[in-house]
Amino acid sequence: MKIGIIGAGAAGMAAAVRMASRGHAVTVFEANAYPGGKLSEIRLGAYRFDAGPSLFTMPMYVDELYELAGPERTPPLPYERLPVVCHYFWEDGTRLKAHADAMDFAREVEQVLGEPAEHVLRALEDSRFKYEATGRIFLEQSLHRPGTWLSGSVARALPKIPRLDLFSSMDRVNRRMFTNPKMVQLFNRYATYNGSNPYKAPGLLNIIPHFEYHFGAYHPQGGMVAITNHLVALAEEKGAQFHFNKKVERIEVQNGRATGLWVEGELHRFDRVISNMDVFFAYRKLLPDQPAPERTLRQEKSTSALIFYWGIRRTFPEMGLHNIFFSEDYRAEFAHLARGEVYEDPTVYINITQKCDPADAPEGGENWFTMINVPYNSGQDWDALIARAREQILRKLSRMLGVDIRTLIECEEVLDPRTIESRTGSHLGALYGTSSNNRMAAFVRHANFSNKIRDLYFVGGSVHPGGGIPLALLSAKIVDELIA
Ligand SMILES: Cc1cc2nc3c(=O)[nH]c(=O)nc-3n(C[C@H](O)[C@H](O)[C@H](O)COP(=O)(O)OP(=O)(O)OC[C@H]3O[C@@H](n4cnc5c(N)ncnc54)[C@H](O)[C@@H]3O)c2cc1C
Repeated sequence: MKIGIIGAGAAGMAAAVRMASRGHAVTVFEANAYPGGKLSEIRLGAYRFDAGPSLFTMPMYVDELYELAGPERTPPLPYERLPVVCHYFWEDGTRLKAHADAMDFAREVEQVLGEPAEHVLRALEDSRFKYEATGRIFLEQSLHRPGTWLSGSVARALPKIPRLDLFSSMDRVNRRMFTNPKMVQLFNRYATYNGSNPYKAPGLLNIIPHFEYHFGAYHPQGGMVAITNHLVALAEEKGAQFHFNKKVERIEVQNGRATGLWVEGELHRFDRVISNMDVFFAYRKLLPDQPAPERTLRQEKSTSALIFYWGIRRTFPEMGLHNIFFSEDYRAEFAHLARGEVYEDPTVYINITQKCDPADAPEGGENWFTMINVPYNSGQDWDALIARAREQILRKLSRMLGVDIRTLIECEEVLDPRTIESRTGSHLGALYGTSSNNRMAAFVRHANFSNKIRDLYFVGGSVHPGGGIPLALLSAKIVDELIA
């Protein structure tokens, strides 16, 4: 078949590998001059930064693409498992190194925070239980096909529902697990892995720590952008053709079927169309004459981010690849986000790939990807918010690291919800499509196919099973199975 793909984001690239590996003729149109969408890079002088995602989990979904492509192809993506997942910093001077090994992590928590090691192991066991009960249903299959609900995995999950914490928030579950508020905060942070609010999101989302502690956290050699470069090379090797600077203008629909794509006024005919662009804009821009699933498109969005890419002329041995500087009042921070505001004492995340790839910064320097969670764009005065947040972040980091960070910044670039939308086509700059704050979120997310237009499929963070690289890759797997 001839397959047309709109967008070369993580899911678009994975779909291209899968379709081309099945022998289909694949054409990918990408609006940007480069592939990857959010999974791309930024260079500032001698500093290199991953533009968006920085945490790589569940690499088996990338490995799987190499396995599908067959033995005669370029070597797979090189990556290493991190021995320390994250460095945590609190305002009172407490610092915690979260080891990847569960037992080491539990011991460190007991030593530093006085929280019994068995509480950590119990929380991780709860996370494993939830993942094993529901992961296959919610992540690996279409929720919109009757076959999923008649499957054995659903039958096996039913008796486990009372232990899935569908009616408690993540925060409530974590308060049940831990006595030390710092541990509650640390485990609440996992809500941000899909742009949610731990005080609203169901306790079922406590499956997320399992991704990090069981499957592991990884660093691809050369940074996250290496995933993009490898997937494009793999898809091209299987015969897929990528066209950059080619924005799709319209999906051609004839007799209820998607039959082609309009690019620069020219119609390209296809047997199947796969859209990797944000599903909101797919309906609004490419299908303006078709009825849109308005309720689905109106779902609350996930949070967005404000990122300062800073070239820092100093090294900080106390920091690692992933670092979190917590706010003093996490609940207040999320209450602000829920109201569309930026909190004055935000939790700051710093990713420093130079720790693993020294070439990402000049000798004696570090590349700081400095990010805070902010609400999606609803017309706030971003210029004023950015200026204020920058000062607050600099004051906080200088206080917590005991050095004036302002004087160390050699170069800077900023990404905010407006530019996330303009660069990657994400509606309102949401990082992960719709939020998972509601326990029905998984069911109201857009399906991986259109039930009105035949031969039209959807992949990527704005559709089932949701945002984040592993889920975006899984959306391509689901579509591959649907088309097959
Ligand atoms: C700052 C930030 C931090 C993040 N951190 C993490 C993390 O640590 N770990 C993680 O797993 N995930 C993280 N994420 C989320 C992750 O990046 C996304 O879920 C994932 O990359 C989404 O991939 P996608 O397939 O939906 O494509 P996208 O990256 O959304 O790309 C869509 C592509 O479609 C193209 N496009 C749109 N419209 C058209 C058109 N009309 N014609 C042609 N092309 C078009 C766009 O140009 C873009 O290239 C983060 C995201 C951001 C922004």
